[in-house]
Amino acid sequence: MADCIFCKIAAKEIPSTVVYEDEQVLSFKDLEPQAPFHALVIPKRHVESVGALTAEDKDVIGHIMCEVIPAIARDNKLDKGFRVVANTGDEGGQTVKHLHFHVLGGRSMQWPPG
Ligand code: 5GP
Ligand code: ZN
Repeated sequence: MADCIFCKIAAKEIPSTVVYEDEQVLSFKDLEPQAPFHALVIPKRHVESVGALTAEDKDVIGHIMCEVIPAIARDNKLDKGFRVVANTGDEGGQTVKHLHFHVLGGRSMQWPPG
């Protein structure tokens, strides 16, 4: 999608520090890390948010949740635990309108979030 920063990162038009990549999915380090480990995981195909997902996205979201995120956690030794967050929409705190899962680890997380 034109003017989408994460589409540009997926297309390698904007550089990023890649954590994981396959045909459908890219994971890269967050520019402003909120924890010692902070990566974003995106489907390469543009979809705005969790709220915009449809049955067509089942395979890629299942792949992200069941394979990609557990592999990232293993590879980055997040064995003590980690947090997966998908901010959704303006009140959900989503600033980039291309679906992404934050994977945060390496420190103790607080709850509830602000
Ligand atoms: P959101 O607030 O939408 O849940 O998260 C967007 C995240 O994207 C933020 O944590 C922000 O630091 C990160 N971000 C925004 N622009 C870029 C960028 O150009 N490169 C990288 N690596 N991260 C970005
Ligand atoms: Zn996009």
